Amino acid sequence: MERLKQKILAEGKVLSDSVLKVDAFLNHQIDPALMADIGKEFADRFADVGITKILTLESSGIAPAVMAGLILKTPVIFARKRKSLTLTDHLYSAKVHSFTKQETNEISISQSFIHQDDTVLIIDDFLANGQAVFGLIDILKQVGANIAGIGIVIEKSFQDGGKMIRNAGYRVESLARIAHLSEGNVTFIEEEN
Ligand code: 5GP
Repeated sequence: MERLKQKILAEGKVLSDSVLKVDAFLNHQIDPALMADIGKEFADRFADVGITKILTLESSGIAPAVMAGLILKTPVIFARKRKSLTLTDHLYSAKVHSFTKQETNEISISQSFIHQDDTVLIIDDFLANGQAVFGLIDILKQVGANIAGIGIVIEKSFQDGGKMIRNAGYRVESLARIAHLSEGNVTFIEEEN
């Protein structure tokens, strides 16, 4: 997605050979117009597969997921990373090791919102080693729901997550695929979209 790539080049900061900071439009400050375009792109790519729910992970997946849900006319559920007083029992949970925080969180959703007859699109902001997405897949397997695919805003293709998830048989649509990060520069995998 060309507009997203231009935004990454203009406002992304390469913190190391493995970490890209996009606090200016996705992870802290949010660019709503860009999120609307991202949501439309996900909705277009997954238009014909009968999505009934979108599942993401708090907090940075929420903005792109909501924009996709607005167009696909589906509810958006975000898995929570911390137990809350209001989210206590009747949960589906999975363990996720965070690439950026280097800690393991238990992520959970209420059993009320996704059911066996749902067809679910998973959306997340970044794909690195795939732990977050595999945690969401784990939850959906517990539910018994159909997983239509995974929409990722930024995939770091030099890390293993994308390969592992595709090898597991899932459709992954990433709007920007990074071939490598080095010396402050971002290099994308070129593809026609
Ligand atoms: P994974 O679980 O695929 O290893 O990592 C994905 C999660 O880690 C994403 O949900 C995102 O929050 C975070 N993440 C991974 N790599 C990066 C990165 O380079 N930059 C930022 N800002 N977040 C990242």
